[in-house]
Amino acid sequence: MSQSTAQRMQELEQLLNRYNKEYYENDEPSVPDTEYDKLFRELQTLEKQNPDLKSKTSPTAKVGGKPLAKFNTVKHEVPMLSLDNAFSAEEFAAFSKRIGQKLDEGTQVTFCCEPKLDGAAVSLLYESGVLVRGATRGDGESGEDITENVKTIRNIPLKLKGDVPDRLEVRGEVVMPIGAFDRFNEKARQQGEKVFANPRNAAAGSLRQLDSRITAKRPLHFYAYSLGLVSEHTVLPDSHYERLQQLAEWGLPVNSEIERVDSVEGCDSYYEKILERRDSLNYDIDGVVFKVDTIALQEELGFVARAPRWAIARKFPAQEQLTTITGVDFQV
Ligand code: NAD
Repeated sequence: MSQSTAQRMQELEQLLNRYNKEYYENDEPSVPDTEYDKLFRELQTLEKQNPDLKSKTSPTAKVGGKPLAKFNTVKHEVPMLSLDNAFSAEEFAAFSKRIGQKLDEGTQVTFCCEPKLDGAAVSLLYESGVLVRGATRGDGESGEDITENVKTIRNIPLKLKGDVPDRLEVRGEVVMPIGAFDRFNEKARQQGEKVFANPRNAAAGSLRQLDSRITAKRPLHFYAYSLGLVSEHTVLPDSHYERLQQLAEWGLPVNSEIERVDSVEGCDSYYEKILERRDSLNYDIDGVVFKVDTIALQEELGFVARAPRWAIARKFPAQEQLTTITGVDFQV
């Protein structure tokens, strides 16, 4: 094994750890996501080629960043994972082939297709239909308690309607709509205050305020995209798509671009359609997510270290956009 491979792997690990801290803990990235993704891929490839050199603490096996000490910590009873990425139609086809090989021959796979919202993941816990806790994803095992902050987000219901399970954990993304983000940054710039690199960082930074009155002034919006913990013996639909409809019936906001398709070609068309619509949406998306729709098949496929085997994010090509961060122009 060449010394330089081991050195490069170590170098990549250190770089990615630094970028993770800047992005997840400080909400202040210093490099564009495309640069991060390129380095992440390089490390993943080297680890695959040299498994004995893979470090136990590799960033490729980790989710997010550590919860900040200034918040109370919430332990996620069901871990909040990340998603694997596909950067081309070929990589998506390879994903589809992989799942086909894991399932019984001839299994018909339906996919739930969703925009990949570029915001911050949150978990909302409802007890007897009442919102009792909000938390960030953190490192996937534990997140930050941001209950008072999520309560200020107008489209998050404080109380659900209908026949709701005793305990219901809803997961989704908090985003800052683009127009609101531009206005917010413009005002901050005029007042000489901190501006955010992009709507994602603005959403994540706004959620992690110690004073919920500050969060209340930030224009945030929530979209539910999955369930976490649910009381035992709850009867739920056996498809992900239908579970999202159920969440909508209980009063939770679900994105209107979500569709169900039954082939790889259908996924490809969805990708093209959403890519075309990207600029007309009032929130940032950085790709689309394809999820195996049948819950029993999801359970059969299971998880790998940091992501489910039954879902993948197909990323969009980078959108070149110039943003000023603390006086320095750079691409995000
Ligand atoms: P991710 O953003 O690639 O994918 C997982 C996340 O997608 C989930 O946690 C959820 O929050 C989100 N999501 C959005 N829509 C969803 C939907 N419909 N269904 C399910 N989940 C949905 O994962 P990640 O681990 O948070 O971040 C990795 C990415 O973050 C990298 O690929 C990189 O682009 C970026 N990043 C950038 C830097 C940097 O320095 N620029 C550093 C770290 C990470």
